[in-house]
Amino acid sequence: MECIRIWTEVDIQELEAHIIMVDDMLGYCHKCKTIGIDIRDIKKCPSCQREIKYVSSTEAKGGKSEIVGRMRKKLPHLAFVDYDDYVRLTGKKKAESLFKA
Ligand SMILES: [Zn+2]
Repeated sequence: MECIRIWTEVDIQELEAHIIMVDDMLGYCHKCKTIGIDIRDIKKCPSCQREIKYVSSTEAKGGKSEIVGRMRKKLPHLAFVDYDDYVRLTGKKKAESLFKA
């Protein structure tokens, strides 16, 4: 199955409230700053308990569809948010620098 981007309107605050950033299949919660979250079947942040509905990843920067496809397979219950769109809309560049280490 191929992955394709479908544009939709979002409430950016709602998106931010329910998104998790993932790298190498470990998650980062930008709200409580927890790193290394096991994201298999994740529905809530294990630390702050906020509900997770969206996922994005620096690895998918530039629209790397194979990365998105891999994550969709592992996290089919979460909507994959394009990383570049997310950064553009939130200005949260710090999420990027966190994973550069
Ligand atoms: Zn959290």
